[in-house]
Amino acid sequence: MSDYVAPLADMRFVLENVVDLPGLAKVPRFEHADPEMVYGALEEAGRFFSQEFAPLNRVGDEQHSRRNDDGSVSTPDGFSAAYRRYVDAGWGGVPFPADYGGGGFPWLVGTVIQEMMTAANMAFSLCPLLTQGAIDMLLHYGSEEQREIYLPKMVTGEWTGTMNLTEPQAGSDVGALTTKAVPADDGSWRITGQKIFITYGEHDLADNILHLVLARVPDAPPGTKGISCFIVPKLLVNDDGSLGERNSVECVSIERKMGINASPTCVMAYDGAVGYLIGEPNEGMRYMFKMMNNARLSVGLEGLAVGERAYQAAVAYARERRQGRAPGAPAGESSPLIDLPDVRRMLLTMKAQIEALRCVAYLNAESIDLANNHPDESVRQWRTELADLLTPLTKGWGTDLGVELTSLALQVHGGMGYVEETGVAQHYRDIRIAPIYEGTNGIQAMDLVGRKLGLRGGGVMADFQAQIAGTIDELGRAEGDLAVIGDRLDAGLSALRDATDWLMHEGLSDPVAALAGATPYLRLAGVTAGGWLMARSALAAQRLLGDGLGDAEFLEQKIVTARFYCDQILPQVHGLVPAVTAGADDLVAAHF
Ligand SMILES: Cc1cc2nc3c(=O)[nH]c(=O)nc-3n(C[C@H](O)[C@H](O)[C@H](O)COP(=O)(O)OP(=O)(O)OC[C@H]3O[C@@H](n4cnc5c(N)ncnc54)[C@H](O)[C@@H]3O)c2cc1C
Repeated sequence: MSDYVAPLADMRFVLENVVDLPGLAKVPRFEHADPEMVYGALEEAGRFFSQEFAPLNRVGDEQHSRRNDDGSVSTPDGFSAAYRRYVDAGWGGVPFPADYGGGGFPWLVGTVIQEMMTAANMAFSLCPLLTQGAIDMLLHYGSEEQREIYLPKMVTGEWTGTMNLTEPQAGSDVGALTTKAVPADDGSWRITGQKIFITYGEHDLADNILHLVLARVPDAPPGTKGISCFIVPKLLVNDDGSLGERNSVECVSIERKMGINASPTCVMAYDGAVGYLIGEPNEGMRYMFKMMNNARLSVGLEGLAVGERAYQAAVAYARERRQGRAPGAPAGESSPLIDLPDVRRMLLTMKAQIEALRCVAYLNAESIDLANNHPDESVRQWRTELADLLTPLTKGWGTDLGVELTSLALQVHGGMGYVEETGVAQHYRDIRIAPIYEGTNGIQAMDLVGRKLGLRGGGVMADFQAQIAGTIDELGRAEGDLAVIGDRLDAGLSALRDATDWLMHEGLSDPVAALAGATPYLRLAGVTAGGWLMARSALAAQRLLGDGLGDAEFLEQKIVTARFYCDQILPQVHGLVPAVTAGADDLVAAHF
C-alpha cells in the first residue's frame, strides 16, 4: 500500500520552533544547509519514499527475504530496483561529509529523512540504517586508508554495512562474546566465530557488504574490556578498489520472525575470514559506546515513524467506516467512526504522543549536531550532555510508544485491524522488535539511572529540569490554555524532581532499589520531556498566531494537541512516582 504521506508541515514546525534549523545552518560546517533548500529536499524525500518504498511494505511482509541453497539471500520483488533508485538519488549520503561524497548536511536533516524512509518501509530502512552505523564507525575510528577504501562506496550506498555484536551466549551481555581474531603475517587478521541476528548480513541489494565484527584478540582481557572491532568485507577489495575474492564469511541461515519480514536476520559464520582492525585492540566497546547515541536515536525514531504511519491509516479508516450514531448525529444515519468520542480519544492520544516524540527525537538529533560542530566549547559540552541524557529516552520511551501507538491504530480498525487485510497489523508486528534491539529498553533504563543521572554529579539532570522550569515561567506569564499547560507541566516537573531526588539519594545507597525503579523512571522522564516540548510548541504557536504569521488553523491545532497532552497524558507521571520509589522488596519477595 502506498498510503504514507510525509507529515511535512508538522516536521517543519518542529524544525523551526522546537529546535532551530535556521540557527544550525549558521554553524560553520552547515552553512550551506539553507533552510529553504532543506525544506525542498524534505519534500522531495517525502515523495520518493512514499512512491518507491511504501508500496513495497506489504510485498516485503508477504514474501520475506529468502536464503537460497548457495547461501545467497534474495530480497522481495521490487526491493533491488527501489534500492538502486535510492542510491542513484543519493539519499544515503545526506548527513555525511562531502569529502566522501556525502551532502554534508546536519544529522538533524538526515534524521527527518530517516523518519520518512522508516515510515514508508521499516524492514527496508534497516539496510541503510545499518550502513549508516558502519559509516559512522569508520568516520570516527577508521584509519585514513580504511576511510579512503570503503567510505565513498558506503556513503553512496553501493556497498552496505552490518553490525555484528550478538552471539548465542552474548546478547545484552556483549562482553560474553567469544569470536576470535588472530593476527596474520600481512598485518590483517583472521576472524573465526558465529554471530546471530545480523540484520542484512546477506542480501542482493548491493555489490559488497562490509561487516563490522566484534571479536577478541589473543590474551584479551575478559568482558567488555577485551573486545576489538574489525572490518570484514564479504568480497575482499583489491588495491585498485576493484572487488576481489570472496571472503570466508557466509550466511548459514535466516530467522523466521514476527515482523520486519523483508529484513534478513542472519546467522553469520566466520571461518578464518580476513579482517582489518579498526583503531586499537581492546577498544571496540569504547568505540561502540561513542556511536551509540546515533544508533539508538535511529531506533527510537522507528517508534515515531511506524507510529505515524499507523496513525495515518487509523485516521483514514475512521473517516470511512460507519458504525452507530455519534451523540447529536441525525437519526437514522450511522456515523463515521471519527465522530465517536472514544475513537476521537484514541486518535488524539496517538496524534499528541507522536508530536511529543517527534520533538524529543529532533532535539536529540540537533544536540548531536551541536555537540560535534558548534564553535563554542560550552555549547558543545551542554549539547553532548543533553544528547547523552535524551538518547535513552528517545530509544526507550520512543519504542515503547511505537508499540502502543500501533496497537491503538489497530484498535481503531476493530476486527479489521486484527486481520491482515488493512495492513495495520503489520505495523504492530514490525515495530515490536524496536524495544528489544539496539539495547533492550530494560538496558536503556539502566543506562539512564546508572550512568546518565550521575553525569556531572547530577548536574546534567538538574540543568535539564531548570530548562523545563524556564518554560513553565514563560507559560506562567500567559493566559487561558497556555496557563493551564503551565500548571500541568509544573506538576509534571515536581514528579520528575521527586523521583530523581529519590534515585540520587536513596538509590545510591541501594543500587538494587534504584534498578528496580529504572523502567518506570525512564517512562516518567520521557513523558515529562514530551510535555515540556509540547508546551514549547504551544508557546510558539501562540506567538505566531499573535503575529499573524502562518496557517491559523494549523497553529490552533498545535495548541489543542499540546493542551490534550499536558492535560491527559502528562499526569500519568504522578502514578509512576510510587513505582520508581518503591524499592525492590516486593521484587525480591515474589516467588515465580
Ligand atoms: C530482528 C533482530 C535484529 C537484530 N539485529 C542485530 C544486528 O544487526 N546486530 C547485532 O549484533 N544484533 C542484532 N540483534 C540482536 C539484539 O540486539 C539482541 O536480541 C538484544 O541485544 C537482546 O539480546 P538477547 O536477545 O540475547 O536478550 P537477553 O540479553 O537474553 O535479554 C532478555 C531479557 O532480559 C533482560 N536483561 C538482560 N540483561 C539484563 C541486565 N543486565 N539487567 C536487567 N535486565 C536484563 C533484557 O532487557 C530482556 O528483557 C537483532 C535481534 C533481532 C531479534
